[in-house]
Amino acid sequence: MRIDLDANATTPVLPEVLEAMQPFWRESYGNPSSAHQSGRRTRGAVEQARIAVASLLHCSPKEIVFTSGGTESDNLGLCGVLQPFLDKRDPAHLITTQIEHHAVLFAAESLERRGIEVTYLKTDCNGVVRPEDVEAALRPHTKLVSVMLANNETGAIQPVGKIARIAKAHGALMHTDAVQGAAKLPIDLSGEFKNVDLLSISGHKIYAPQGTGALFVRQGIDLAPLFHGGPHERQRRAGTENVPGIVGLGRAAELAQQRLASGHTQALMQRRDRLEQGLLSAIPGATINCAGAPRVPNTTSLRVEGVNAEAFIIALDLQGIAASFGSACMSGAAEPSHVLAAMGLTSPEALATIRLSLSSLTSDEEIDCALKIIPAVVERLRSVA
Ligand code: PLP
Repeated sequence: MRIDLDANATTPVLPEVLEAMQPFWRESYGNPSSAHQSGRRTRGAVEQARIAVASLLHCSPKEIVFTSGGTESDNLGLCGVLQPFLDKRDPAHLITTQIEHHAVLFAAESLERRGIEVTYLKTDCNGVVRPEDVEAALRPHTKLVSVMLANNETGAIQPVGKIARIAKAHGALMHTDAVQGAAKLPIDLSGEFKNVDLLSISGHKIYAPQGTGALFVRQGIDLAPLFHGGPHERQRRAGTENVPGIVGLGRAAELAQQRLASGHTQALMQRRDRLEQGLLSAIPGATINCAGAPRVPNTTSLRVEGVNAEAFIIALDLQGIAASFGSACMSGAAEPSHVLAAMGLTSPEALATIRLSLSSLTSDEEIDCALKIIPAVVERLRSVA
């Protein structure tokens, strides 16, 4: 039996999602921009998916731009807002954090190289950005604040609603990378997040296919496109739509909404908590990073004193458990995670940390099995160290 404890890296496509996509490969394959029947059918399917994604996020379908995933959504959000300020004499300033995914961090660095001033905030020791630090970092010319909703490595939930209020009061726009928060937490862009202007999601973290995603762009916000081409997505994202992928994302959004309403996430959290308690009691010197922070219900950042994370991941893989070293994008790199460093962990502590992330499909039996395998692997690694 293989146990997938790496759902923050990617999730499988749910059968209902695959079923919804199926007709759009060979039967209904029209270009949604075509005026004929076949095109009108796929246009209808794309617009249905837009309604489903908007419903999950509590916004208007007009505010949803389909993209190729979280990375593109983040780049479109940041660069789309700040592009008009490049090469201008007037200064522009972006506030973001040191715990962002590289899709935000590297976009910010690229903007910085082109003249945008950027502040990268640290977090507290629980991996949470302090709203007062955002307030203190504001400058008269701060145009955008970008703080993620939930961290991909630790699961720590950031006070995005509060930070968005601060940005709004200052006249700056607010972007949040909700790739790891969507479908795990309720997101209400007309309520708690009414001051959020841009929000990124990714399909393959919510049981839709890889290479799908969306950016919420609040009505009235001008966004410079990343790509130049046709007038697709209301001039915000040129390129013929990935119809099967978009349909899959829409179906995944509907299913996510049902799971959120049904108490499924509480069951997921109970499973995750049982895993954590079992590991803490069976492994001497084990700690859960960010345990003191509000966290998404599926993520565990496990630190085991004296155990090298890379060796740990390989040994777990040999025993049938997929886990990850920091974020998926850093797998294989023996560098301490920038996220763990930003919350004050030392290099040895960061290099002794692995990430276990459950999916909605993780079963109680798999947790039982993991609770047998993981402590045994630690014992073996320690005995040969
Ligand atoms: N943002 C966060 C927080 C992520 O975890 C990821 C992927 O791991 C991304 C952005 C990038 O998303 P995608 O893989 O869809 O490009």
